[in-house]
Amino acid sequence: MRMSGEIREECGVFAVVGHPRAVELCYYGLYALQHRGQESAGIAWRQGVRLRVHKGMGLVSDVFPPEAIASMSGDMALGHVRYSTTGESRIENAQPLLVKMYRGQFALAHNGNLTNAARLRRELEREGSIFQTTSDSEVIPHLVAKSGQEDMLGALGSALEKVQGAYSLVALTPHGLIAAKDPFGFRPLCLGRLDGAYVISSETCGLDSVGAEFLREIEPGEMVEILLPAEGGAEPSIRTVSRAESARHALCVFEFIYFARPDSDIYGLNVHKARKQLGRVLAKKGPVEADLVTGVPDSSLSAASGFAEEAGIPFETGLVKNRYIGRTFISPEQSLRELAVRIKLNPLRTLLKGKRVVLVDDSIVRGTTSRHIVGLLRSAGAKEVHVRISSPPYKYPCYYGIDTSSRGELAAASMSVEEIRQAIGADSLVFLDLEDLQEVLGTAIDGFCYSCFTGDYPVPVPGIQKEDGLNDLFEEAGSGRR
Ligand code: AMP
Repeated sequence: MRMSGEIREECGVFAVVGHPRAVELCYYGLYALQHRGQESAGIAWRQGVRLRVHKGMGLVSDVFPPEAIASMSGDMALGHVRYSTTGESRIENAQPLLVKMYRGQFALAHNGNLTNAARLRRELEREGSIFQTTSDSEVIPHLVAKSGQEDMLGALGSALEKVQGAYSLVALTPHGLIAAKDPFGFRPLCLGRLDGAYVISSETCGLDSVGAEFLREIEPGEMVEILLPAEGGAEPSIRTVSRAESARHALCVFEFIYFARPDSDIYGLNVHKARKQLGRVLAKKGPVEADLVTGVPDSSLSAASGFAEEAGIPFETGLVKNRYIGRTFISPEQSLRELAVRIKLNPLRTLLKGKRVVLVDDSIVRGTTSRHIVGLLRSAGAKEVHVRISSPPYKYPCYYGIDTSSRGELAAASMSVEEIRQAIGADSLVFLDLEDLQEVLGTAIDGFCYSCFTGDYPVPVPGIQKEDGLNDLFEEAGSGRR
């Protein structure tokens, strides 16, 4: 859980093909994926032979009041929840993007970040393309329109050959949808089935929310086309096109550390179970005498419970999170922001007073959250605060969909563990090592991207050297990072 207004995350996509209640199901799916983006939400759906879209800023519940959902019905729907940087929070960038070209309409929802979007956009603009958004995703419809290919699968395939970076995306047409994952498979995307319909979701928790059965992951480099036959009543057909072989699979390890919901499974590995195991390893690595273990809600609770079990120290609810605060609540004024933080998270004083506390969090990015929470625990009377982080020091910015500021803002980029300990005011501080992470996750799943810990970027980022800060190419494109 990050504390200040500068929260940056990624996106979620959800789609249903061949179900009479596709829009409603999509709405529930987006609810389940809300943790992946709270800035804007949208659903594109087929009404008759045309695609329509409804989108807006805010949470799924803000954008889709019951009367909106009641007025949207169709047998195919595609939804998106988005998070970007604070400055990029604009309605134009909300997805799905709905476009009309000579081939007809299509709607696009994208999770990930394209690393060569700025260059492609410059080229396209020079050739006459007019962009409507500042999102990197918009290069895809432009490339599709220019591909010269007859069918949508061919056109999208040819567009995707030109883009680099991370994409787990779904394109909806009046005939069906295409789901595609980049050759490295940075972001999750899976396929499910419900009453003869097909469902696509960023995470399995989305499938669970609508009662769909998990079929399989969309594989890195794969494109899957699901078509709805023209005759009503017939079931959709599905066809797989394995488009690209990748040299290396690189699933974002942060999906397991922070992003994904604990009840999701990725490649068969349950996120809660993985986090709990990381917590256990952390307990062996950073043992400490303490009275209680507590986690930062919600993302760290699994790791904290694993730590507590392994250490034999009681697991307690030391911090209570108010779950009813939307992001818009955070005021830009510093004084009010601090108040907002207090309203969001409150320490349980009677429990903490005079106690030696182990505080488990999943990551330290800028260090703001840990400093704040250590302060909160001390103000509640904790005698000692020992911070344990269930991931290695986060040293390098991510260019594939998690906007984690410039290198200069990352605490571990310039400070040693001891310096970070002092900065956050903890009595002791222990991180996991990369090897620990690899031991827990790497044996279960083949091929992770660990670049935020190592600086080893699987897809080169134009203009970025390992030691650089945030690429100004991204700024130039006004990239909608997600
Ligand atoms: P920081 O305050 O910058 O050190 O951020 C670390 C905290 O934010 C941890 O409590 C994480 O659970 C959470 N976190 C990690 N990565 C992100 C992200 N990309 N967006 C929002 N919160 C994050």
